[in-house]
Amino acid sequence: MPEKIEIHPLLDREKQRRAKEYNRRKRFWSVITSITELVILVILVMYGAGNRVYNYLAGLPPLFQFLLWATILAVGAELLSLIPGIESEYMLEKKYGFMKQSFTGWLTDLLKSTLIGIVIAWIVLLLLGWVVKLTGPWWWLVFAGALFFLEGILAMIFPVVILPLFHKYEPIGDENLTGKLKEILERAGIRVIGFYREDSSRKTGHDNAFFTGFGKTRRIVLYDNLIDNYTVDEIAAVIAHEAAHRKKNHIIKLLLLNLILTAVISFVVHLVMLKSYHSFFEGGVHILKNIFPFILVFSLMMFIAGILTNAISRIFEREADTYALKYTGSKEAFISMLARLANRNLSDAYPGKWIKVLFMSHPPIGERIAYIEKQI
Ligand SMILES: [Zn+2]
Repeated sequence: MPEKIEIHPLLDREKQRRAKEYNRRKRFWSVITSITELVILVILVMYGAGNRVYNYLAGLPPLFQFLLWATILAVGAELLSLIPGIESEYMLEKKYGFMKQSFTGWLTDLLKSTLIGIVIAWIVLLLLGWVVKLTGPWWWLVFAGALFFLEGILAMIFPVVILPLFHKYEPIGDENLTGKLKEILERAGIRVIGFYREDSSRKTGHDNAFFTGFGKTRRIVLYDNLIDNYTVDEIAAVIAHEAAHRKKNHIIKLLLLNLILTAVISFVVHLVMLKSYHSFFEGGVHILKNIFPFILVFSLMMFIAGILTNAISRIFEREADTYALKYTGSKEAFISMLARLANRNLSDAYPGKWIKVLFMSHPPIGERIAYIEKQI
């Protein structure tokens, strides 16, 4: 911890020291994963691996080729990040006391999410081949739109199809708590279908709460860790913050930003394909020949887009904090909630500037507390 930073009295000094170490180690493995993926992709592009595999599989029915390719890509990506993933998501979580699962339990969850990833890869790759074939030079625009639509469907089925594969949910019975939360939502003018308790403590020591679903599946999910370790006023502060996101349309704005960025990224990929990989424009299975340069350019652009998205997200987070105060009316509860979150989750409250720019979608908790204290 740099000497000059005065740590907030509600933050635990020793936990902040551990938080710095924990986050540094997490970042190390995430950077290692990105570098490995980048190096492997560059090698695959240099050796024309796409064409070689394409020629090898060319005799198979087109649909089968798509499914096989998508499976290889999804599983390959998972295998590349397997070792860093075990280090970062299992070993480190265990070392810092967050991991509550056995290694086999954790691997089972990883297998489930890999299977979900494979199904999504099938859809995306088939969609790409089909869109390029059908719309030719306009594929990048239509593809971005199609991904946007797909994201919408996934968001809708997420709480009812995906989440129950990993956790159990039960409606929150504590009327003292739900009453308070309903009050906040009413003040924000938000209608929610239900409040659910997630059995997170079986798997992790982290705390969280989120709004999820869309239309009829719209609900609020609270980790049991949050319900059991925070005061009702602190939980209300969390929900007020989430309600502010809804009220200020942050989710829709971020989705639209995502749509625009995906279109821009796809257009850059389009230009690269136009210059060096003409067979891509034949569409259908032909896109598979050039799938590695496609993924390479797409991923590099996504990295840059991620920095921009994080910067905008940090602005939205600040706005949500400001509005949340209007809904709770309790500055103290909001600050003690943030401090408890930092202490229990080992969030680094005072990270360096470049760490914030490159990695953080939220302003550091130290900044958020200082900002809230200044509000009237
Ligand atoms: Zn937020």
